Amino acid sequence: MTIVGLTGGIGSGKTTVAKEFKKLGVPVYIADEEAKKLMNRSKIIKRKLINLFGEKVYIEDKLNRPFIADIIFNDTSYLKKMNAIVHPKVAKHFEKWILKQKAPYVIKEVAILFENDGHKQCDYVITVTAPIKIRIQRLLKRDNTTRDKITAIIKNQWPDEEKVKLSDFVIQNIELQKTINQVNEVHKNILQNIG
Ligand code: ATP
Repeated sequence: MTIVGLTGGIGSGKTTVAKEFKKLGVPVYIADEEAKKLMNRSKIIKRKLINLFGEKVYIEDKLNRPFIADIIFNDTSYLKKMNAIVHPKVAKHFEKWILKQKAPYVIKEVAILFENDGHKQCDYVITVTAPIKIRIQRLLKRDNTTRDKITAIIKNQWPDEEKVKLSDFVIQNIELQKTINQVNEVHKNILQNIG
């Protein structure tokens, strides 16, 4: 099975792009969503996260995301520690998921791909880009967050230029219709390449 990694900085529009691939019949795995589900479901992960962050990390058995976000905002080393707990489980889950898919290729949406060498497990990589100013505007509109919090996350991610250099395809997501056109092109290209 051909694995196509889909990445891009926060607010670039990865999920928006992933939805367009889904409309074309491509199975899409959204790693962050699956990670969240596993954090709410897996007893082993829960125990490890409580050991790392303390009991407050769950409220009535549901992951307390703002609490985690605050800790990571103040000490980014916690992000690495959390990822070390969650990522191996997501990787296993993805391996099982992929076996069930019937399509020429699948899309794996991962916010942090190059940063963790995840691109090495992909046959192709698509990076979604958008100017930082637009990304910040989108996120301020979508989330209950602050410019400072967004900037802190952006600082933890590779700049677009570095991602673009290592990508097979780049989708610039500013105007939605143009984005959809690019998705169609990339889809055709991938099918040709793997044909
Ligand atoms: P995150 O890294 O936070 O998961 P993301 O890269 O997946 O973000 P999206 O959630 O797809 O980004 O997009 C961020 C926000 O911007 C969403 O509210 C989405 O609806 C909006 N958005 C995405 N692309 C466009 C576009 N081309 N035009 C207008 N709004 C857009």
